[in-house]
Amino acid sequence: MNLRSGYPFWLVKNGLPFDYPKLEKSIEADVVIMGGGISGALVAYHLVNKGIDCMLVDSRTIGLGSTCASTSLLQYEIDTPLLKLKDLVGLKHAVRSYQLCAESIKKIGLIADKIGFSEFEFKQSLYFAAIKKDINFLKDEFEIRKKHGFNVTYLNEKQIKSKFKFDAPSAILSEEGGTTNAYLFTHALLQYSIKKGLKVFDRIHIKKIDHLQNGVDLTTETGYSIKTKKLIYATGYEAVKYVDKKIVNLHSTFACISEQANEKAKFWKNDVLIWNTADPYLYMRTTKDRRILIGGRDEEFFDPEKRDELLPQKIKQIIKDFNKVFPDIEFKTEFSWAGTFGATKDGLPFI
Ligand SMILES: Cc1cc2nc3c(=O)[nH]c(=O)nc-3n(C[C@H](O)[C@H](O)[C@H](O)COP(=O)(O)OP(=O)(O)OC[C@H]3O[C@@H](n4cnc5c(N)ncnc54)[C@H](O)[C@@H]3O)c2cc1C
Repeated sequence: MNLRSGYPFWLVKNGLPFDYPKLEKSIEADVVIMGGGISGALVAYHLVNKGIDCMLVDSRTIGLGSTCASTSLLQYEIDTPLLKLKDLVGLKHAVRSYQLCAESIKKIGLIADKIGFSEFEFKQSLYFAAIKKDINFLKDEFEIRKKHGFNVTYLNEKQIKSKFKFDAPSAILSEEGGTTNAYLFTHALLQYSIKKGLKVFDRIHIKKIDHLQNGVDLTTETGYSIKTKKLIYATGYEAVKYVDKKIVNLHSTFACISEQANEKAKFWKNDVLIWNTADPYLYMRTTKDRRILIGGRDEEFFDPEKRDELLPQKIKQIIKDFNKVFPDIEFKTEFSWAGTFGATKDGLPFI
């Protein structure tokens, strides 16, 4: 599946920081993780820390699925507002989902710390009303989050202007958010886990999967066999190939990053993550090397050719959207890219 195109910033910046071997014989492991993106790498980290014998395989070079395209904003606020999610899955589950997401950002921070990965930062997240009509919705969204223990502040137009220096009718400022570099984090997790016994092979496509009574037999495209007790599918949006129900709609999304600003440049207060109530929404963050990363303008189709044709036009629109918020910041694009994005009916993942 064509998951991304263009020049994802971190892939350009970090290149191929580590090499992993190809599998050249048949092998066994207690657990096999199929997929070497951020999901597979986090699963591997947890398993090796529990002393479980495991190996990870990926069809591509490590991290070159969706992970290298991620703009790596970490938000507990999934794409479905809590107000809407409660109607879809019930209040208890909705609140628990939001809580688990908030906890996971803290956990990711702890893991980054433990493995000595420096490209993780806690950040506040600012969700602003794109139009006046969204003020009431934002107020209600704020109330429900506040009531259920989330650390949020409601900001009116004046407060947004004085704190963040842009015009918006209202906003919710959340304390729990973060930024990272998912691509390099994946490599850092794998390097740590390899030292604890994880075996990693890339450029190995699993072609055939036979679930038996006592385990799973995998066959690679090159004809080797991998025998395992448990198989973990960490195949990202390509999971659609392995699930016989339609669980996700594949969309296209677009992002770009600016040139580096000079040493003295300050973009906006606390470099908070910023996103809005537009549909599709606009989002922005800054990077440690003084760039602005923006994205959005999603399209509800999966058609890589059409998506790539649209890229130049989409980037122009995203920059225009950005300049409506910050007219005084000159955004000079250095790299832009597009990718596939999966949307479930409630915004929650499937496990
Ligand atoms: C432009 C863009 C911006 C994004 N921004 C954000 C963001 O800000 N925050 C956020 O949280 N998310 C963001 N995402 C989404 C995020 O990138 C993905 O959710 C995440 O990278 C998925 O990671 P993964 O490990 O599950 O999948 P992947 O990185 O796709 O890894 C799955 C791997 O499985 C391998 N695989 C599949 N089938 C097989 C097989 N049969 N045999 C062997 N290997 C196989 C693939 O080769 C692939 O490398 C963004 C996505 C895009 C495109």
